[in-house]
Amino acid sequence: MEHLDLIISNGKVVLPTGVEETDIGIKDGKIVQIKKGITNKADRVWDAEHQHIFPGMIDVHVHFSEPGRDHWEGFQTGSMMMAAGGCTTYFDMPLNGIPSTVTQEALYDKARLGNDKSFVDFSLWGGLVPGNERDLELLAESGVIGFKAFLSTTGNKEFEAVDDITLLNGMKTIPKLNKVLALHSESAAITNWLKAEKERKGKYSADDYLETRPIIAEVEAVERAIYYAEITGCPLHFVHISSAQAIDKIEQAKQKGMNITVETCPHYLLFNHEQLRELGAIAKCAPPLRKKEEQQKLIALLIENKFDMISSDHSPCPYELKNPKHHNLFEAWGGISGGQFTLLSMIQLALKHNIPFENVAHWTASAPAKRFRISDRKGKIAEGADADLAIVTLNESHLVTEENYYAKHKQSLYIGHTFPCKIFLEEKL
Ligand code: ZN
Repeated sequence: MEHLDLIISNGKVVLPTGVEETDIGIKDGKIVQIKKGITNKADRVWDAEHQHIFPGMIDVHVHFSEPGRDHWEGFQTGSMMMAAGGCTTYFDMPLNGIPSTVTQEALYDKARLGNDKSFVDFSLWGGLVPGNERDLELLAESGVIGFKAFLSTTGNKEFEAVDDITLLNGMKTIPKLNKVLALHSESAAITNWLKAEKERKGKYSADDYLETRPIIAEVEAVERAIYYAEITGCPLHFVHISSAQAIDKIEQAKQKGMNITVETCPHYLLFNHEQLRELGAIAKCAPPLRKKEEQQKLIALLIENKFDMISSDHSPCPYELKNPKHHNLFEAWGGISGGQFTLLSMIQLALKHNIPFENVAHWTASAPAKRFRISDRKGKIAEGADADLAIVTLNESHLVTEENYYAKHKQSLYIGHTFPCKIFLEEKL
């Protein structure tokens, strides 16, 4: 009988079909057996009684800001944090590092850094920006997981938002390259105009910030992108959607058979605008945390399975950039640091709203794997798949502190939050 490296026995295993108490046999990093009572000899047997085994999370949306801004995060701390949160594969966004990932050279440089430093598997997004249309083919050939563009003005000058011509031309090219275009969908025209109005009046409160990024700005950008996708046939992935109205538009497009997926992030589901009022810049992101009524609508849509997947949009920065003494809320960096907590957040929501765990596994692992075509080896607990697993204890809570948050900078919306569950970590790891 084959000698195994590891047997995880008696765990409650979150399979695509539901939760089953069974054993998992692992050899050379692959799952080779799933059945009750594996009797092979193994280097190690882990008794997972009272623990749930989820497929390792695939987080399609993080910003590690390396090279160039690794004082913001970096592959080493970023990937350690992700692993501590049960994430075994992540896709790093093309912006916040310098240079941004909009050429083949920048892609190779970043890939080398990731290969040297990352504790878990990863892939890289390429950017669609004005002026790099000719780079798209080389980026695709070199293995980007997809392309990302901004319809709103970005927070950094190294990655410009697309104008409509760049967007249309990019959307004509990307289907030929067999890739998906991910879009940050907020209207630049609406948000910039509202921001200028507030600045003219010297109004910088949390409520003012929310008013500069209204739901209508998200809906307009989503509708325009869908319209362009109808013309070009470009597959779209809408990142961090924050409103029920935008989901309504996306749902209508899906019903027509369009090739579209959508994600939201745990911070839109667990938190709301009150946190921005209370905590200021730590809770600033774009689109902004919505009011409580909208948060409730998003949770209802999650339960109705209207989101294809959940990502963290981990977007950290040094504390100085969010320091209220130095910046008003409008100038502070917009981004939530919290990549470690996506799986825990989803399990918390599942427990509260009676959502089956296989749905959580779908949103955090199998749907991203399928969308981005790595489901031959990732995204589910199955024989032949990579042994990418997250061991979760439900009978222990997890209070987030600066000590047990592994990101480079400890300021996070999640500090002080208690999850009703814990990702199991071995001390020696
Ligand atoms: Zn992002």
